Amino acid sequence: MSPARARAAAAAGALRRSGGSAAPPQGRSRKRAAPRGAPAPPPARHFFSDPAEVEALRGNLLAWYDRCKRDLPWRALAVMEPDADRRGYAVWVSEIMLQQTQVATVIDYYNRWMQKWPTLQALAQASLEEVNELWAGLGYYSRGKRLQEAARKVVSELAGRMPRTAEDLQKLLPGVGRYTAGAIASISYGQLGLWVGFVCVPLHPGSTPAPFFVWSISQYGNPSSGSQATGVVDGNVIRVLCRLRCIGADSSSPAVIDQLWDMANVLVDKSRPGDFNQALMELGATVCVPKAPLCGECPVKQHCQAWRRVEKELAFTSQKLFGNPPKVPDVEDCGVGDCPLCPPATEPWDSSLGVTNFPRKAAKKPPRAMRTATCVLERRGCHGAPEYLIVQRPSSGLLAGLWEFPSLPLAQDLQKEREREELADHLQAWMGRPVAAKGLRFIGEVIHIFSHIHQTYVVYSLPLDGDVTLDPALSPSRWVTENEFHASAVSTAMKKVLKVHEKQRRQESSPVKGSKRKRGAKAQGAGSTCPGTQLSLHAFLRAPTAP
Ligand code: SF4
Repeated sequence: MSPARARAAAAAGALRRSGGSAAPPQGRSRKRAAPRGAPAPPPARHFFSDPAEVEALRGNLLAWYDRCKRDLPWRALAVMEPDADRRGYAVWVSEIMLQQTQVATVIDYYNRWMQKWPTLQALAQASLEEVNELWAGLGYYSRGKRLQEAARKVVSELAGRMPRTAEDLQKLLPGVGRYTAGAIASISYGQLGLWVGFVCVPLHPGSTPAPFFVWSISQYGNPSSGSQATGVVDGNVIRVLCRLRCIGADSSSPAVIDQLWDMANVLVDKSRPGDFNQALMELGATVCVPKAPLCGECPVKQHCQAWRRVEKELAFTSQKLFGNPPKVPDVEDCGVGDCPLCPPATEPWDSSLGVTNFPRKAAKKPPRAMRTATCVLERRGCHGAPEYLIVQRPSSGLLAGLWEFPSLPLAQDLQKEREREELADHLQAWMGRPVAAKGLRFIGEVIHIFSHIHQTYVVYSLPLDGDVTLDPALSPSRWVTENEFHASAVSTAMKKVLKVHEKQRRQESSPVKGSKRKRGAKAQGAGSTCPGTQLSLHAFLRAPTAP
């Protein structure tokens, strides 16, 4: 090894041992440090380069967490459950449910899930239908499906033993990414995983300008190798870290995400990694919130560069107000335009936003607009209560395997009458019998936003006089009562559709529209039947009165 390389490796080792962050040496400006033509390393304020500060931040954050943490069912299991596989499973379920969903929403789902499937083995034996039913309303239905597939894999291929490291969790379990793996490893097993660091090391410390060597370390940890505890980076952690270190570059870019992972791995407390990671996420969820962060109550504000900047600006403004000779505010605006971690030159710091200047994201692509015609097919059940026909979606793609009212995606800009005709044709092909377009009654539109789709459901209804036998070669279908509908694996969007339909029915039942109600009741009552009683073809095909 060359002397220069040896010095670089020694410095990298020293930094790792000290627990300090990947950062340029203090006291050197970026301009002096950068070799000619090479990109300048980001300035020190974007890192945690002082081990004493890292220690203080860990202590403050953990003390706050011990005092203020919320009682959550998965936290109790992570502490109380003696069986390591059950513990890992309990944390895994919570992490998958919490992705993009609020804690308050998840608690009830989590409790019902763990009651029904308290172990990996129990989940592995469940049907996809049961999983979808319990998951209904949480969104991202494929996550529940993948969780169950992964549980089956652990039971059948890993003898029911959960992988213990972040690396193995990510490698062996479908649907488990870097964040989930880190969370399970640190919270359930209190330890170790992947550590990747970038270190800037001076090759010739005495020379000016000193060229820098960027050293990349990638190491998979295990207890015997003395490697690092694993940090985690989720949406809450991204927000907190970007504010702590004034990182204003696009927080969804791979370069910034890598930097944040390095930072999380440096900050994580080596003796309480699970608690530390949860504390950082808890801080983002309850104090360092997106729109109105509670900086006054923040346990780490003295380590926060964004908060310091706001404080300095306030001091500067008050100096000016009271007629003191204004000084230039002592705030860094490092290299806007060429610093890879600062906001782009086109979007400099905006004083009116305060700490919420961070984090920043590149503008998202607008969601794709889609229109779908859907039809509430309704009949009277045995006791006069309405029953609805639902069909199952294909087993892959959006809302895979869920149940819905018969639906048909529509071309954009189709005229209303044409929409109705296309839906009638679709129902006709599906039922194998003519369906009159004029019998389909338009009752409203329902808008539902999926992450990448702006979906408009154009809702029609069609009351039927009798049972319908659908071609079994097509989608599975069944009649359900209202209660059965809500207990089925139906999406939130379909629940909204039924709500619109019920609202319409209530309006029709109001005294003002009494005469209409009587006519409707007569029409429905005439053909009312219990399942299994087949009407004549003539009775079934008789189109109800058009609106
Ligand atoms: Fe977030 Fe404010 Fe705390 Fe900084 S001081 S970490 S911006 S809550």
